Order: sequence, then structure tokens, then C-alpha cells
Amino acid sequence: MTVMVQTHVHYAEEATTGYPGTLVAPSDPRAPVAGHSSLVDKMLKAGLLVPTGVLGLYGRSGVYQDVADGVGLMVRRWGQDLGAQRVHLPPVLARSTFLHTNYLESFPDLMGSVHVFTGGDAEHKQLLQRVASDGDWPALLEPADVVLCSAACHGVYPLCTGTLPEGGRIFDVQSSCFRHEPSVNAARLQSFVMHEIVHVGSAESAWNHREEGLACGLRMLEGLGLSMRAVPASDPFFGRVGNVLAAGQLEEQLKIEGVTPIPGTEGETAVMSANSHRDHFGKSFGIHSAAGEVAHSACVAFGIDRIVVAMLAVHGLDPASWPFYVRAQLGLAGPQA
Ligand code: AMP
Ligand code: ZN
Repeated sequence: MTVMVQTHVHYAEEATTGYPGTLVAPSDPRAPVAGHSSLVDKMLKAGLLVPTGVLGLYGRSGVYQDVADGVGLMVRRWGQDLGAQRVHLPPVLARSTFLHTNYLESFPDLMGSVHVFTGGDAEHKQLLQRVASDGDWPALLEPADVVLCSAACHGVYPLCTGTLPEGGRIFDVQSSCFRHEPSVNAARLQSFVMHEIVHVGSAESAWNHREEGLACGLRMLEGLGLSMRAVPASDPFFGRVGNVLAAGQLEEQLKIEGVTPIPGTEGETAVMSANSHRDHFGKSFGIHSAAGEVAHSACVAFGIDRIVVAMLAVHGLDPASWPFYVRAQLGLAGPQA
């Protein structure tokens, strides 16, 4: 305990020393971090991002968060129009739910697991000795009954187990997500917020949700001054079998991404995706439509952080100077603006 507290104080005051197992945080929080893209460096210098010493892991300033909240409110308004049930989920997911999603089969390299200390005094002493000697102390921890959330929609499927009401169910769900993809790219984070409008219902209603949601999402983002394009895409499935899965997903056009150029990063970046899962989650979670068939589902996912980063790169790093029509939609236009 004392060691952990001291570590943190040390980190804040003399960060150049760092601590075992992590990258070293810069002593000046606004100083560039070696290897970061220039866009990340600019955002750090402007104080929009707060460094943690780990690639793709940042704190957000109040200004950044206000923009993120504004984007979230826009998604929420759309959800309200659809009569969606709002669910705010924690950043961790029950391990049993996670296993039912089959995420581990498809993306073992992206997931994160939570481990906890369950020992007594003797094990505690051993743990602290390992920390002090820079040894493998995580090996002394036990898996918790939660894992880090990989996609916001995963938490709503267990809520649907059984028979759905007529017309199915629709959720407005957001969560902090973790994906292990450390990167110097400002738009590729390890921890980011995903906000989704999810429908669970019949094959037809789920497909319609995907189609209408895609159109609606693209319109919304274009209204924020982003130049959007819809492209069929595939998820980064793991391994050789993954290539086959990805090819099938592409062929059936189950995943369509809304991509936009982000100045300062290469190519185009997906800031949203509209996904048909067919009956994958219906089968895994025992969900049936009102008509008694295995339920289908579809989600429209907005990567809130990618949208904020794209807007900062396109409109400039000071949201107060953004065009009025953009600020107005985000609820950021003051009365005198
Ligand atoms: P996906 O489930 O992969 O389609 O992700 C949904 C959305 O989350 C994507 O369209 C991105 O906007 C966002 N997203 C996915 N991975 C990341 C990441 N590593 N960093 C930031 N945003 C991400
Ligand atoms: Zn989803």
C-alpha cells in the first residue's frame, strides 16, 4: 500500500524516473512524448490531452470533454427519437458475459482482463517484495470475475435473454472501452468511449436498424463539418481463421464504417460503424423475437474520441473558434455567440 502511494507521488513530481513496467511520463506534462504523432503532440501541448506515460492512454481536459459530451448528446437525441432505453454501463464486463460474446475467439489480442489480489499477509509480503525487486508481481494476482469492456453493446445482450416484446428492444448505451492496440496515432487509443444505438429484434427490423442507423449517423457527423464516406469493412479477426471470417463479413456487407480523413493522420479513419450481427448474439444469449425466432441484432457505434479528435484536427484545436453551426449542435454556443 505505502509503496503504491509513494510510487504515485514520485510519478507526479519526478516523472522522468518512471516506475517498473510502464513508459516514462514526461516531466513537463505538455512536453512531447518520444514517438507520438505530431497531432498527439499538438493536443498535449494545447492541454487537450493529459499524458499518462502509456501510448494511447490519455486524460482529457475540460474543453475536450465538453466537445465529447456534446457529441454524446447528439447520439442521445437520436436514441430518444427511436424510443431507446438509456443504459450507462461500467468499463468492465462480467467475465461470463464476455465469454458468451465470443470476443475471445475472434480478438484475443485486443482484450484486457482484470486481476486482483486475494492472498493473506504472507502473500501480501511476497507481493511487495516482488514489486520492490521489479519482479513479476502480476503473476501473484488472480483473475477477477470481470474483464475490461471491449464494445459498449456487449453489456445489453444479457438483458434481453428470453422473449423480446413485439417490435424488439432498442438501447442507447455508452461505455469506456479498452482495446490493446498501443499506437502513436491520435485516433487509435487503448481506452476510449463508445456510444451505441443497439437494436435487438427480428431479422428484418435489425437489418433496417443497421441501414437507417448508418444513414442517420453519417448525416449527423457531416453536420459537424466532417467529410464522411461509407465503406464496407471487416473487423480485425485474429489468426488464419480470422482471414476467412473477415472475408465473409465483407462479402455479406455486415459491417459498414463511416470514415473520414483526419488531418495529421494517414488515410481515412473509421469514426463510426454500423454492424449487423445476424443471429450471433441472439443464439449466444438465448434471445427470441416475439414471433419465436432466434433474435437478430444490429448496432450503430460512434467512437466518441475519434470524432472529437477528427473535429479538433479539422476545425482547429480551440473549439471556441469553431464555426457557429458546429458549436450550436454541440450545445457549446454561448448566448452572445
Ligand atoms: P468497432 O466495434 O471496431 O466497429 O468500433 C466502433 C467504433 O469505435 C469505431 O468506428 C471507432 O470510431 C471506435 N474505435 C474502435 N477502436 C478504437 C480505438 N482503438 N481508438 C479509438 N476509437 C476506436
Ligand atoms: Zn456494438
